[in-house]
Amino acid sequence: MEEAEKINTLRRREMVETLERYGITNRRVLDAFLEVPRHLFFEGEAMDCAYNDGAYPIGFGQTISQPYTVALMTTLLVERCSSGKVLEIGTGSGYQAAILAALGYSVFSVERIFALHEKAKKLLTRLGFGVACRFGDGTLGWMDDAPFDGILVTAGAPREPESLLRQLAENGAMVIPIGGSSAQQMTVIQREGKDFKRELFEHFTFVPLVGREGWDETVF
Ligand code: SAM
Repeated sequence: MEEAEKINTLRRREMVETLERYGITNRRVLDAFLEVPRHLFFEGEAMDCAYNDGAYPIGFGQTISQPYTVALMTTLLVERCSSGKVLEIGTGSGYQAAILAALGYSVFSVERIFALHEKAKKLLTRLGFGVACRFGDGTLGWMDDAPFDGILVTAGAPREPESLLRQLAENGAMVIPIGGSSAQQMTVIQREGKDFKRELFEHFTFVPLVGREGWDETVF
C-alpha cells in the first residue's frame, strides 16, 4: 500500500474511533465509514481536512456534512430499514450516497445544483458506487421509482414535504432535519399504514432544503 493510502486508512480508523466515542455503535455503519474513502470527496488541500469531524464547503454555498451527522442519520435509517431502496435528497459531494451504497442499499439521490450533481455522479461512478443520480428538486421526490424503504433528507426543511411522505413504503422511514433557518431538529417519520409515527432527536444546522415543498429560494 502506498504511504498516502496508509495514512488515509489510519485517519479513517481514527475518524471511526471518534464516532464511537460520540456514541455511534452500529457495526454496519462503522464498517461503511471504514470502507468509503472520504478524502476522495474533497479536492486539493481540503483533502487534509477530510477526516476531521467537521462540515466542509464544497462550493455553491453548500457543505459536505460532518462525519458525526452522516453517521447519526445513517444509524437512524439502518435501525428502522436495514435493506431495500433508499432515496437521498441533497447529493452534494456524494459521500452520504456512497455510505448508503456501501451498506448495500439500492440508492437514488437528487441534487438541485447542476454542477454538484454532475461532479458527484462522475465521482460515484468512478469509485464504483452504484448510485442513481438525478438533477432536480428533491422535495418532489423520485416518483417513477417510488415507494422507498428509506428517505434521507440532507438539507434543513421548514416542514415535512408531502410528496416525500407519499413516496414512503409501508413501514418505511424518513430521516429529515426540520426547523427554522438557523437550527433544525433531526426527525424520523415512520409510515404505519395510513399513519405516520414521529420521533425527535438532536438539533443541527443544515444548509436549507430549497424547493417547491421546502424553502423559497428568495428567502436566502
Ligand atoms: N449529502 C451531501 C454529502 O454527502 O455531501 C451533503 C448535503 S449538503 C449538507 C445539502 C445538499 O442539499 C446541497 O448540495 C444542496 O444543494 C442540496 N439541496 C438543497 N435543496 C435541495 C432540493 N430541493 N433538492 C435536491 N437537493 C437539494
